[in-house]
Amino acid sequence: MQKGKINVQTENIFPIIKKFLYSDHEIFLRELISNAVDATTKLQGLASLGEVKGELGNTQIEVLLDKKAKTLTIRDRGIGMTADEVDRYINQIAFSSAEEFLSKFKGKSETEATNIIGHFGLGFYSAFMVSDKVEIVSLSHKEGADAIHWECDGSPEYSLTETRKEERGTDIILHLNQESEEYLEEFKVLELLKKYCKFLPVEIVFGTEKKHEKVEGEKDKDGNDVYKDYEIPRIINNPVPAWTRKPSEMTDEDYKKFYNELYPYTFEEPLFHIHLNVDYPFNLTGILYFPKVRDRFEVQKNKIQLYCNQVFVTDQVEGVVPDFLTLLHGVIDSPDIPLNVSRSYLQSDPNVKKISSHISKKVADKLEEMFKTDRAAFEAKWDDVKVFVEYGMITDTKFYERAEKFSLFKDTHSKYYTLNEYKELVKDTQTNKEKELVYLYTSNLVEQDTYISAAVNRGYNVLIFDGVLDSHFINTLEQKFEKTKFTRVDADVIDKLIQKEENTNSGLTDEQKEQLKPLFEEVVDKTSYQIQFENMSSGDQPVLITQSEFMRRYKEMNALGGQMSWMGNMPDSYNLVVNTNHPLITRLAAEPEEGNRKQVARQLADLALLSQGLLKGPALTDFIKRSIDMID
Ligand code: ADP
Repeated sequence: MQKGKINVQTENIFPIIKKFLYSDHEIFLRELISNAVDATTKLQGLASLGEVKGELGNTQIEVLLDKKAKTLTIRDRGIGMTADEVDRYINQIAFSSAEEFLSKFKGKSETEATNIIGHFGLGFYSAFMVSDKVEIVSLSHKEGADAIHWECDGSPEYSLTETRKEERGTDIILHLNQESEEYLEEFKVLELLKKYCKFLPVEIVFGTEKKHEKVEGEKDKDGNDVYKDYEIPRIINNPVPAWTRKPSEMTDEDYKKFYNELYPYTFEEPLFHIHLNVDYPFNLTGILYFPKVRDRFEVQKNKIQLYCNQVFVTDQVEGVVPDFLTLLHGVIDSPDIPLNVSRSYLQSDPNVKKISSHISKKVADKLEEMFKTDRAAFEAKWDDVKVFVEYGMITDTKFYERAEKFSLFKDTHSKYYTLNEYKELVKDTQTNKEKELVYLYTSNLVEQDTYISAAVNRGYNVLIFDGVLDSHFINTLEQKFEKTKFTRVDADVIDKLIQKEENTNSGLTDEQKEQLKPLFEEVVDKTSYQIQFENMSSGDQPVLITQSEFMRRYKEMNALGGQMSWMGNMPDSYNLVVNTNHPLITRLAAEPEEGNRKQVARQLADLALLSQGLLKGPALTDFIKRSIDMID
């Protein structure tokens, strides 16, 4: 028997490991099972090279609970360790790196320390976060090796002796400490296994499960099938998850099945997927799904799971995945993502940055390919995809440049155009006298219907921008496009939305305007409505309400608490526009009787308010009553 002192200067390293190694104690299980997986895949590797002879037999990893003894055991049938190897890999390597950690840690803050510690291979020693004592019982695959027993109670003293063990591989036996007794509960361990080990590449057995199965070739006396309950080992993982398979071997059905495996409680099917498969300049595999996002911008971040060689790392992927893609679902697996590091460290890691921009490119490539191969199908999905694309175009210049090719505008006839196609479509008809191209849009097909029809009747095209991100998207587009502005259909009277020339043909004299102005001021709230006279055509509406593009955007920004909100909340500000060429208005100007004048002005103003959805409450009640009286 060998007794020894672990080669470490600092008397007691364990309190420090316990405190800083991982803020999450439950990680120990992931670490130990990862070691077991490594030991098993190493053995399989050696066997495939012919360096291990004979059948490997069972290679399953087992997790065993013993409530009485208060132990949790992780058993593998991998390469095992000789006494020499335990000395080298457990007694020395780990501790020397722990020491190195300590020397670097001195004088650093806690957060800095957690940043540093990820670089040290202390996986095995995480066992001491939850254990009073840890035992290793191992039999190496090497011919003639003796089984060994190592034991350590968390002080730097350990013992290493020979022992008996029939089966190749390693048992790590944890004598759980008092604070960690929850890990003796089957449901707790199962939860952790499901979280961290769901897709590990070696089968992991934990407990048993019942299977109700037909007994082949057996019938009861009535000739019915016979069923029996079997108790079978419960395998908690899928060792060959979809992302590790070749895309060419996968059907659409397989991808959908995997989606269900990832999100058993989601019933909505994904729109489509992207299978990532990169081996240069870094390794990365994964499958990203575009989920169906309903009308609301459902914030469903933390749906992407990050793996490192099939070991679950985190579902907090900010920094690894470009921000606009954190709304996607799926998995990313890369051995090049440092495992045990804090988020801020992750974000500054150059590898991680490359990965992020690569994913952004892949997503753009896939969208472009879909657009090119089947435009109709792409258009059918556009309304759902749009929010991701816009988010990307707003926040990521590189993505904007790629997305220009496939990003679509949708008009009020439900037709789709690329940015270039649309420019071609409207460049002759919608250029104003300042030589600016004016893109007209609506944010609400129903509420702005009157304005939309006016524009469409005039031969203009109107785009639909009713998404949650659209006002931001418009800002982005205006910065990118040259000599182009976006104007909502109700921002001005039709002639002025896209002003081509001044119409000087007025049905009213200046004097008549002066007289009409107070009349209208009396029927609407003067603080919110500016009275304005415009020389429109006699076929246009007599009175209408507009809200200037500038004022409206300004208000919207205020509502969002934007930079200008320090100016306080402004009252609503609209224009009540009187059409000087409408016959009703010219008649009103000539009407001598004051009562009639007021009634007509009020009725016309109310109709205009009504068509903007601005007539409400008692004013609306009053309007209806008055209208009925007029019919009478
Ligand atoms: P790392 O896994 O990062 O190298 P660990 O502290 O977890 O660090 O493990 C140290 C070493 O101990 C491993 O590299 C491996 O050689 C050995 N080891 C740990 N667990 C096992 C195991 N179950 N079977 C065989 N070797 C193991």
